[in-house]
Amino acid sequence: MKFYSTNNKDLRVSFQDAVFNSLPQDGGLYMHEHIPQLDPYFIKNIQQYSLQEIAFKIAQAIIGDDIPEQDLKKIVYEAIDFDAPVKFLNPETAVLELFHGPSYAFKDFGARFMSRVMGYFSKQGDQLLDVLVATSGDTGGAVALGFLGVAGTRVTILYPKGKVSKVQEEQLTTNGQNIRALEVDGTFDDCQALVKQAFNDEFLNQELRLTSANSINIARLIPQTFYYFWTYAQLRAQGINEVVFTVPSGNFGNIAAGLLAQRMGLPVKHFVAGTNVNDTVPRFLSSGAYDPKPSVQTLANAMDVGNPSNWVRIQDLFAQDLTALTQHISSYTYDDAETVAAMQEIFQRYQYVACPHTAIAYLASEAYRKDQPGEYASVFLSTAHPCKFPEAIAPEVYSQVTLPKGAAQFSNKPKLATEMNVNYEQFKQYLLDNQ
Ligand SMILES: *Cc1c(COP(=O)(O)O)cnc(C)c1O
Repeated sequence: MKFYSTNNKDLRVSFQDAVFNSLPQDGGLYMHEHIPQLDPYFIKNIQQYSLQEIAFKIAQAIIGDDIPEQDLKKIVYEAIDFDAPVKFLNPETAVLELFHGPSYAFKDFGARFMSRVMGYFSKQGDQLLDVLVATSGDTGGAVALGFLGVAGTRVTILYPKGKVSKVQEEQLTTNGQNIRALEVDGTFDDCQALVKQAFNDEFLNQELRLTSANSINIARLIPQTFYYFWTYAQLRAQGINEVVFTVPSGNFGNIAAGLLAQRMGLPVKHFVAGTNVNDTVPRFLSSGAYDPKPSVQTLANAMDVGNPSNWVRIQDLFAQDLTALTQHISSYTYDDAETVAAMQEIFQRYQYVACPHTAIAYLASEAYRKDQPGEYASVFLSTAHPCKFPEAIAPEVYSQVTLPKGAAQFSNKPKLATEMNVNYEQFKQYLLDNQ
């Protein structure tokens, strides 16, 4: 399979190049040359397969011959070694739990798959691959735990000092091995700027083999399609054929993967995006004007994105046709007060503790059902375990959280982080001195 740039459809690069470059030079995003169609017989009988079997089938359809079958199977089975169960709250509403991976967030799907793909393409004897990533919290944990122990790779994570939650910091800083954390005395934007400058530094790129693990990498998008198919399999096992997915959205990578799955042949009735007050996409869907704004901080902080980077992929899937887009996607926006009230409501009604991102998806899912009643299952995506956001959840609700197995394991390990100022020369010297 070859990939083009959304800014230049004549450009064609291999899967390997798309993974290591992350972004085309022209500032577009990589997209598949053509979208593979899954065998209708497979879809019809999907309830017979496991998550791993489904994941392998889809990865094969998308990646094709770029990775031989047995190697790809190994990558998929190693990366996706945890479940994504659909749990019904009432007969028509279910939550898809995507937080059963090591960092307790759905980003584990993307990060674990990408790390193994990069490890696979980094042949023995190649120069060590230096993965740089800036994080506001969730991405760093998934990338750190995703790459931990992957041969041929070394990960440097930059995070803003004092601005990530305790669980998030532990996931970033207690790993050792091929993972190192830089605690930057600045904001997430400062961290991102340092990483960007490193990628543009010619000397540094001669010395080191740099690559990025950011969320627009095509190798993070692909594995996010797996759980849409897996959800459908679980629904079909219960005799349900119609599904509307509601996705809590920030950079719109997760929902882009859902739309891709639909385009590959997965029967999905409709997609709903729930956002916090960073509502660039909902405003666009109602006005047709794309007018990004600087991001605003909210309780659902992994969705604090003013200019969603994956939106161009979605536009590309619909050939920039707004009418077609609105036939497939609806969107709703919620502020912090509504998010807090929703967490209370879900707990009171269903004894279920949701993280703030999940609560927004719940609200959007309920709003869509009110607007479009019908016989279908509403499945909203739970993108993180509530234990990652203790500060955002009312204490009486939080006290009911069951910690995932192993959650205590981080707390016992010492923090390993190097303090850094927002100073590019210092950052560069660190990378050169610590090879
Ligand atoms: C990253 C993240 C999101 C947003 O996902 P996008 O793909 O950026 O839309 C939502 N919830 C949680 C918990 C996240 O970590």
